[in-house]
Amino acid sequence: MKEKIAEVLVTREQIREKVKEIGKRISEDYAGKDLILIGVLKGSFIFLADLMREITIPVDMDLIAVSSYGSSTSSSGVVRIIKDIDLDITGKHVLIVEDLVDTGLTLKHLTELFQTRNPLSIKTCTALDKPSRRKVHIDIDYKGIVIPDKFVVGYGLDYAGRYRNLPDVCVLKSYDQ
Ligand code: 5GP
Repeated sequence: MKEKIAEVLVTREQIREKVKEIGKRISEDYAGKDLILIGVLKGSFIFLADLMREITIPVDMDLIAVSSYGSSTSSSGVVRIIKDIDLDITGKHVLIVEDLVDTGLTLKHLTELFQTRNPLSIKTCTALDKPSRRKVHIDIDYKGIVIPDKFVVGYGLDYAGRYRNLPDVCVLKSYDQ
């Protein structure tokens, strides 16, 4: 895979540092509260696993799967729920865990969806943020690393189903590899 990488944008060390910092903040902010982390599949599974282990208070977790870009590298703007969460979030504090916020459409849609289920609160968290491509306003409560407008892979993020297992966040040499 190494020969396909043009640039390492965010190193595993930078990610580890940021995840630690966010985990500490979450542990402090939600101490004594009933918190459910909801990971957005597939991309967020590695971040969610890392983040959970940096959180020192009891938490529950669930997963939701939404449509991804497939083999294309730009957003269709359509958010389709492929698998919903199993837990009842009524009266619970919810934290949505994303891999990357790009246009913001996914996070906006999910926030609105979960809001209809009467949680006590909803906050948002992302490993990576690409603010230059935002189409809708969205508050990110726990923001990871801000990246430029480049298509990235690794740390859970794929291109056509590949490269999720790269430990660093990378830019590919070309999209049709
Ligand atoms: P948004 O709805 O904010 O536009 O984007 C949501 C999802 O699109 C992200 O969670 C991520 O899965 C995917 N995405 C956005 N930008 C990138 C990127 O640079 N690389 C990859 N692999 N996926 C991206």
